Amino acid sequence: MRLDEYAAAPPAASLEGPAPIAGPISDRDRYSRQVLFPGIGIVGQQRLASSHVAIVGCGATGAASASLLARAGVGTLTLIDRDFVEPSNLQRQVLFDEADARDSLPKAEAARRHIARFNSTIAVHPRIADLTPTNIAELLTFNADQTAPSPPIDLILDATDNFETRYLLNDFAVQQSIPWIYAAAIGAYAATMNILPTGFQPTPGNPPGAPSMAQSHRDMGGMINAHAATHNSQLTTHNCPPTSCLACIFPTPPSGNTDTCDTAGILSTAVNLAASIQVTEALKLLTGQPHLMRRTLLSFDLWSNERSEISATTPRPDCEVCGLRIFTHLTGTARPHITLCGRDSVQIHEHRRPLDLTALKTRLQTHADIQALRSNDLLLRFRRGPHTLTLFPDGRALIQGTTDIAVARSLYARFVGA
Ligand SMILES: [Zn+2]
Repeated sequence: MRLDEYAAAPPAASLEGPAPIAGPISDRDRYSRQVLFPGIGIVGQQRLASSHVAIVGCGATGAASASLLARAGVGTLTLIDRDFVEPSNLQRQVLFDEADARDSLPKAEAARRHIARFNSTIAVHPRIADLTPTNIAELLTFNADQTAPSPPIDLILDATDNFETRYLLNDFAVQQSIPWIYAAAIGAYAATMNILPTGFQPTPGNPPGAPSMAQSHRDMGGMINAHAATHNSQLTTHNCPPTSCLACIFPTPPSGNTDTCDTAGILSTAVNLAASIQVTEALKLLTGQPHLMRRTLLSFDLWSNERSEISATTPRPDCEVCGLRIFTHLTGTARPHITLCGRDSVQIHEHRRPLDLTALKTRLQTHADIQALRSNDLLLRFRRGPHTLTLFPDGRALIQGTTDIAVARSLYARFVGA
C-alpha cells in the first residue's frame, strides 16, 4: 500500500472485525516469521520443537527467557523456582500479573499458566523447588509427571539470583556434559556467558526421526523459503571445542555482601537484555549451530553505556571443576540448610519433611496470634507479628521480616516442628 492509499483508507475500526480463527492455531502460521529467518528455517524450527530446556529460576530473567523460548517453539520447558509472585515482581517479571501476586502463586506454576495462554502446543513442567545438591540430578533429569517422559535436557539456562546455585549448576553441567548459559542482571547491568563443557556433543544432522526436507515442506503446508531451505540443507555437525567454565573465570564465588535486586534495584531493560542474548545463544545451540555461539563473558551497563568482554575461549587446565573434576558444590559440603535470601528473609530447606498443608492449616487455625492464614495446593502462608511464613509441601519455608537465622528457626520449630 502506498502512502496516499493509507490516507485514503477507510477507518479500520469495525464492530464486526475479522472472523474468529476456528480450531487450533497451526505451526505454519505461528512460526512463519521465525522460519523465514535464514538462521532458523524449517529444519531449525523442527529441532526447536524436539528440544528440552531447563530454566533454573523463574524470576525476572527466567520469566523473560521462558517467554521467549516458549514463543520460539522450544518443545519442552522445565521451569524450576522456589518462590512465589509478589507485587514488587510485576515491574519486570513478564509472565506474572496482579492476580498471581494477590494469590501468592508459585512462580513456576504461574509461568506455566501464562505460557499455556499463548502457546498451548509445547510441554511445560513446573517444579516448585529450591535447587540443591540433593535434588539437582532429579530435577534436571526427570519430570514431575513421570507418566509423560520428556526428551533429555539439551541445555540449562541460569536465571538464578545467587552464586551458590550457579556454582552448583556449573558442577552438575560440567560433570554431566550439559551446556549451560550464565545470565545475571542487577541495576542497569547485565552479564552472560555460554559454558560448553568437555564431552558435549552438538546435535548431529536432523533430529532422530525427523522428516526429510520434502516431508517438512508438506508438513509446513508448503511454506518454504528458498533461502532458508538452502541454508538448512547445509546444517551439519560442527566441531565445537569446550569453553571455559564458570570456575575457570571465577575460581571462587564472590564473598561477603553482594548486591541483589533488593538492595541495588533493577531495571527491567537490563533483565530483558540478558534474556535476549541468553535465548539467542540458546537458539543457535538448539538448532545445531554451537560454532556460532559467543565465547566470552559479556557484560553491559545500560546506564553508563559501558561494555566489556572477557575471553572464555578455552578451559583453564588447572580449573578445579572442569580441569581437575572436583565437584565441591555438588557434594553439598558448601550448602547450609538455612540461607538468607537477600530481602529481609530467611529460607529453611527441610527437604526430608514433607508437609500435609491441609492438616497444618487446620492445626494453625486454633492459634490466636496467627493472622491472614491462606493456603492452596502449592503453599500455605500466614502472618505472625512482624513475620510472614510461607510453607511449601516439600517442607521448605520462607520466613520474611527477619535476617536472624535463630528467629527463623524458632518460628519454624514452633509452627511446623523441630
Ligand atoms: Zn573450568
